[in-house]
Parts: sequence; C-alpha cells; structure tokens
Amino acid sequence: MVRLDNLSDEDFVNLDLSDEDRASLHQSDEDSKYFFQLCEDEVKGVKLPGHDHPMSFLARAVYCSGCTEINDSGGYHCSDCDMYLHKECAESPSEINHPSHTRHPLTLLTRGAPDDSHINSCRLCGGKFRRLIYHCTECEFTLDPACARNPPPLIVYHPKGHEHLLTLMPRLIFFTCNACGMVGDRSPYVCPQCDFMIHKDCIYLPRVININRHHHRVSRTYFLGLRNWVCGVCRLKIDGKYGAYSCLKCPQYAVHSRCATREDVWDGEELEYEPEEEMEDVEPFKVVGKNLINHFTHEEHNLGFKEGGGGGGEESMRCRACVLPIDLDSFYSCVDCDFILHEVCANLPRKKRHVLHNSPLTLQKNIPHHKLYKGVFRCSACKEFSSGFSYIGSGIQLDVRCGSITEPFVHQGHPHPLFFTLPDPKTCRACGIWQNKIVPALFTFTVCI
Ligand SMILES: [Zn+2]
Ligand SMILES: [Zn+2]
Ligand SMILES: [Zn+2]
Ligand SMILES: [Zn+2]
Ligand SMILES: [Zn+2]
Ligand SMILES: [Zn+2]
Ligand SMILES: [Zn+2]
Ligand SMILES: [Zn+2]
Repeated sequence: MVRLDNLSDEDFVNLDLSDEDRASLHQSDEDSKYFFQLCEDEVKGVKLPGHDHPMSFLARAVYCSGCTEINDSGGYHCSDCDMYLHKECAESPSEINHPSHTRHPLTLLTRGAPDDSHINSCRLCGGKFRRLIYHCTECEFTLDPACARNPPPLIVYHPKGHEHLLTLMPRLIFFTCNACGMVGDRSPYVCPQCDFMIHKDCIYLPRVININRHHHRVSRTYFLGLRNWVCGVCRLKIDGKYGAYSCLKCPQYAVHSRCATREDVWDGEELEYEPEEEMEDVEPFKVVGKNLINHFTHEEHNLGFKEGGGGGGEESMRCRACVLPIDLDSFYSCVDCDFILHEVCANLPRKKRHVLHNSPLTLQKNIPHHKLYKGVFRCSACKEFSSGFSYIGSGIQLDVRCGSITEPFVHQGHPHPLFFTLPDPKTCRACGIWQNKIVPALFTFTVCI
C-alpha cells in the first residue's frame, strides 16, 4: 500500500487508473481514496509536491536524483526530466520549519542549489547536494533532504563524550575538533564554558578499544599533551593539544582518533567495561624440564632444544610451522618422533593482532579440510601455498611468514623500517622506492618520517 496524503482531489483524478479501479476504490471505502494497492510495477501520472510534471511510481529501488540515501522503498520517475526520486524524496513537503533555522521556513528546491548561491553542501552534515534541497534565500541556509527530514538534535547530553550539555551551532565556522584534532568547517557542537568544540560524529567516539596495530588497548583522551607525537597508524604528526588515543602501558604510543577508529584498524567494539583479555593462553608452550618444552601443537610428546650452528645434523629437516629448512638455526625437535620447529617458530604467539585484520588471529596447526587443497592452504596475503601452521581469522588465513609481520617491518631488501598503510601511498617516503617489489602484494608499507 502507498499513502499519498498530500495529493489533492484533482491529483487523484489525474491518476492514471482505469474506471474499474476507481470504482472499486470508491466502493471499498469512500475515505480511503488516498490508499491504493499497487498491483502493477508502475502507476502513471502522479503529481507530486515540488515537481511540475506528473511522475510514475515504480515498485522497486531507484537511484535517487534527489538525495544520497540508499533506499529500496520504491520511487518515482519523471519522464520529462528523466529523473528518479525515491519515495520519501518525491513526497517531500514543499516547505518546512526546521529546528536549526527557526527564523524562516525552508523551501524545497528540486534543481539543486540556486545558480547565484555558492553553496554546494549541507549546512549541517556537509553532504554534497543532489537535486533536492531545502533552502532559505535570505540567509543562504541550505540543507540536504536527510538533515531536513531527520534534524540533528540541538542539544546533546552524552557524558561519555563530554560532561556538560553540548549545543549545536548551525554555522559555517572553522574550528578544530577537540576529540579528533581535525579542522571542521561547519556546525560543531559546543560547550562554551569548557571552550570545547566537537564534530557531531566525534561525540560518540569509543573510550577504550583494541586496534590491530598495537598489542595493548588504547584509550581516548581529549588532551594528549605536548610532545612530538607520531600516529601509530598513518605515521603523521599528532597535535598534542587535541584528542587522540594513547596506550597506558607504552608512554610513546598514540594514534589519531580518526586513524584508530578506521574500519580496517578497529573491530568496532568498545571495551571500556570489558575485562582485559586473558593473555595466558597466548603462550605457545610450557617448559617441562631443562631445555625441554611441551608445545601446544604437539602435546603428545615433549620437544628438546638444540642450539643452532650446524652441530645437530638437522639441516635437511623442515620446520613444521614455516616449512623452511632448519638450516643453521636453533630449533626444538621431538624426543619421540620427527616433529621439529625453529626456535623462532616455537615461540610464535597463539593469538596475535595483525595489520590485515581487525580482530585477533589464532595460530593453527591443522589446516581446515578443503576438497581442493589437501593438506595445503593458500596464504591470503602472499598467495603462496603452504602446508605449515597458519594464522586464521574470519575470511583470512596467513602463513606464518606473513602472519608474523609486525610494525615496524624491517626488510633486508629495504634500508628503512617500514610501516603498514592502506591503500596508498605505496612508496617509501624516505627514498621513493616502490614497495610492492619487496613485500607481498597485499601489504603496502611506507617508512616512518
Ligand atoms: Zn532521495
Ligand atoms: Zn545534511
Ligand atoms: Zn533564513
Ligand atoms: Zn572530530
Ligand atoms: Zn563542558
Ligand atoms: Zn594517523
Ligand atoms: Zn602499548
Ligand atoms: Zn620455522
């Protein structure tokens, strides 16, 4: 059913319905003429507020020319203008009173901002305009349909974000956000007594989170403190006068608020009241005697330690974890069978955070059965096949080489320590060498400057 309350009687007469349809509508209920069942894909000739031509209804998702919302509630098409509007946009009232602009009503315009104005984005959210806007000519105050329909609150009380009431200032004004340190150009929320200004979205930044670039939790602060801070994610400078995330255990470590809460960095969980994760089961082995361990991947037997240097005669054997030859490295070998691990590989943590995934990865000995690859898997990062251990998370499986990459990444083929970035730039900022040559394709690293 579609409700078109704002159609006049004349509009209703103009609807392209058969006489039979009309009769049945009247018959069923004289007052329900504004409700009608859409049996066909299209009903032609509906005249909508704010648009000169009759428009036809489409009972499917349309790509709205009016706004940027994604919506599948159906929509209208104007064949004269070849314009699609989603239902809510098409039925927008031609004038509204808006709480952010109480001086004058706002008028619906359907051809974007007037040519003589220099406005191209919403006063409140900064979103770019499409065809539909609400506009006050006298004040050059303009909103996109989303902010017109759902006005942001004039006052916000969110003690986790700020201890006092925050008030929306719907102005074009440059300010530096106290939470993220970025410059905004409009409509901050302000607390005058604290000289505090904040982006709307930054009010709700989480307080304690895990990020995949650091093994401790990081906490939000509104004042980092003056020092030469470098962001642990993007490697750019952080202005200590404003907010950021910092590690309570590592006094040097801080991350921009925007970088810490990026989708590829943060798993979206607020941990303020969550107990710290148990770190115990991260230990990969128990020491059971002098130079004797029991490794979680080989619990049936104990492994004995042998110093590297070639004396062990195990050079031809391959490590079960990384599948590389033991060579001259120190190793642990099983006292009862041929199970063997490099010392380094025996120490791989069972759980770890990784730059390619925003929740922790788990070290696995056994490869989940796959009908195509028996006993081998393909590393999600380097695309090489491996039959060794892997780090697994949802939708990702890394061989131990790629799974062990941490920041800073020191590579023998490159003179500077490398840091992970997404997705660009891929060039070392210190020397300009293109990085794809020296690290697996999915990793892009730049150097710290
Ligand atoms: Zn729309
Ligand atoms: Zn807006
Ligand atoms: Zn006005
Ligand atoms: Zn901000
Ligand atoms: Zn305050
Ligand atoms: Zn950053
Ligand atoms: Zn730390
Ligand atoms: Zn190994």
